[in-house]
Amino acid sequence: MADFKLTYATMFNPPEALHDGFDMAVAKLKANLGREYGMIIEGKDVFADEKFDDHSPVNTDWVLARMQKGNATHANMAIAAARKAFPSWSRTPWQKRVQLVRKACALIEKRIFELGAAMALEVGKNRMESLGDVQETADLMYYSAQMMEENNGFIKSMGKDPLVGYDSTNTSVLRPYGVWLIISPFNFPFALTGGPTGAALVAGNTVVIKPALDTAWIVRLFADCLRDAGIPDGVFNFVTGDGSVVGQALVDNPEVDGVTFTGSFDVGMKINQSFARRNYIRPVILELGGKNPAIVSRNANLEDAATGIVRSAFGLQGQKCSAASRVIVEDAVYDDLIAKLKVKTDALVIGDPTDRTTYLGPVINQRSYGEFKEFNEEISGAGGRFLTGGNVKTGGMFDKGYYCEPTLVTDLPFSHRLWQHEMFLPITTIGKVSNLDEAMNIANSVSYGLTAGFYGSQKETAWFFDNIQAGVTYANRPQGATTGAWPGFQPFGGWKGSGSSGKNGGGYYYVQLYMHEQIQTLIKPAPANKTKKAAPKKAVKKVSKKTGKASSSNKKTAMRK
Ligand code: NAP
Ligand code: MG
Repeated sequence: MADFKLTYATMFNPPEALHDGFDMAVAKLKANLGREYGMIIEGKDVFADEKFDDHSPVNTDWVLARMQKGNATHANMAIAAARKAFPSWSRTPWQKRVQLVRKACALIEKRIFELGAAMALEVGKNRMESLGDVQETADLMYYSAQMMEENNGFIKSMGKDPLVGYDSTNTSVLRPYGVWLIISPFNFPFALTGGPTGAALVAGNTVVIKPALDTAWIVRLFADCLRDAGIPDGVFNFVTGDGSVVGQALVDNPEVDGVTFTGSFDVGMKINQSFARRNYIRPVILELGGKNPAIVSRNANLEDAATGIVRSAFGLQGQKCSAASRVIVEDAVYDDLIAKLKVKTDALVIGDPTDRTTYLGPVINQRSYGEFKEFNEEISGAGGRFLTGGNVKTGGMFDKGYYCEPTLVTDLPFSHRLWQHEMFLPITTIGKVSNLDEAMNIANSVSYGLTAGFYGSQKETAWFFDNIQAGVTYANRPQGATTGAWPGFQPFGGWKGSGSSGKNGGGYYYVQLYMHEQIQTLIKPAPANKTKKAAPKKAVKKVSKKTGKASSSNKKTAMRK
C-alpha cells in the first residue's frame, strides 16, 4: 500500500491489502458489539441516568453500542471544563499543540480499519467511503497543523511606524477565542467533527464536541484518539444525546466563544439567530445543506458525465451535502445521457455496506426511510416519471434495515418545490433545457451554493467556473460530478445558504477562522546610532568633569521625549 494515497478520487481502485484489512476489522468488531461508552468531560468518562441503544441501519437488530443521553447539566459541565482548560492550552506553544494534534492524526491512521468498519456499521457507508471519511479526518487535521507551521503560528511582523526618536515594533498575532463548540452531522461524522476540532485545537481553543444522535459511537472512537494522543483533560470534551436537549443547552450556554455547526440549513439558521441575541457577536461557522447541480452540455463526453453523475448522486445513498441532486441537460444530448444514467444506476449494488461489492448501503434511520417513500409519492403525484428506482427494497436482509433504490426522476416540472428542497436521499431529478444559459439560470436559482459540476468543451468550462454560484466546482470529472473533495486538493465550503464563512475547510484560509487578531504595538526609545541616521540632531556637547572629554547626549535626549 506504500504507493497508494486514499482520497475520494482514488478510492475506485484500491490495493488488495486495503480490502483485507477492512474485512478483518469488520469480523473482529462484529464479535464485540454492544459495549457501553461514556461521555468524556475533563478527561473522565461520564455516565448519564438515561442511555440509548445505537442500532445499525444495516440491520436494526444489531446494537452497536450503548450511549449516554446527556442533558443540560452535562452540557454545562463540559463547557465549564473547556473554560478551565483554556488558559493553559492557549499558552501552550503552538508547536506543542501542533505536535499533539499530529499524534492524534497518526492514531487515527493506525486505527483506520477498525474505525472504517465501525463507520460502515453505524452510518451505512460503503467500505471505501468509510475508510475515506477516516483518512480525510486525519488529512484535515494535518492540514491545519501544516498551516500553523507554514505561517509561523500566525505571528507576523508589521511595518514600523515612521517615528522620530522612537523604535516601534508592530506584531500581528492570531490568538484563540476560548471555548469552541463543534456540532457535527451524521453523514461525515468523523471528518466533520475532526476537521473543525483539529483547527480549533491547533489554534489554541478548547472544544466541546456534540455528534449527531445517529453517530454517537463513531465520534466517541474519534474522541478516544484525542485522549490517547495525550491531549490534556478538559481541552476536548465529548457529550452525547438529543440535539434539541443537550445540543440546545450547549448553544444557549453564554460561555461559548465560537461555534462550528455542520448540518441542516434550518438548525444552522436557528443557531445563528440565537447567537445573534447575545451581548456581543461571536463567530458562528455554519456549513449547511446543498442542492447541487450537474450541467451537461451538448459537447460533453457523455460517458464521463454519466459515470460522474451516478457516483455523486448515489454515493452514501445521496446523503452527502455535495450529492448531485439536480441534473440539467441540453436537449441535444438528453436522450443519450439518460439512457447511460439508467444503465449505470441499475448496475449499482445495494446491500450490506461492509461487503466489497456494495455501492449503496441503507439510509440512516427510520425517518429518512419514511421520507423516501413520501417524496416518491409526491413526485408521482406531480407528474414526475421514475427512470429507475422509486421504491424501498424488501425481502430477506432488506427487511431488517433501511434500504432504498437509487432513484432517477424525469419530467418533474422545474417549478416543483423538490427542485429546490434538499431531500438528502438517493433521489435525483433530471431536467431538459434548450441552451446552457437556461441551464445556468436554473442551476443558480436555489438558495444553496455548495458544489456544482459541469461536462462540456474546454471553452465552456471557463464560462461555467465564471458563472456558477458555488464554493466547490468541478468540470469534466468522471470521479464525481459534484462530490469527492479532499483537503489540500479541493478545500470544501459553500456560498449563499450553504455556508457562512466564505472560506473552505482543508484550505489556506480555514484555521484562521478559529483565531482573532491582536496587534501588539510596542514603543521603545530609538537606539542612539539609529536616531542619528533617521533624524540627525545637533549633539549637545558636555564636558565630563572627570575626564574633561566631550561626549554626545543624543541617547538621553531621545529618552526624555
Ligand atoms: P441536522 O439534523 O441539522 O443535525 C446536525 C447536528 O445538529 C446534529 O448533531 C444534531 O443532533 C444537532 N442538532 C439538532 N438540533 C439542534 C439544536 N436545536 N441545537 C443544537 N444542535 C442541534 O443535520 P443531519 O441530518 O445530521 O445532517 C444532514 C445535513 O447536514 C444536511 O442538510 C447536509 O447537507 C448537511 N451537511 C453539510 C455539510 C457541509 O459541509 N456544508 C456537510 C455534511 C452535511 P441530533 O442528531 O441529536 O439531532
Ligand atoms: Mg444508529
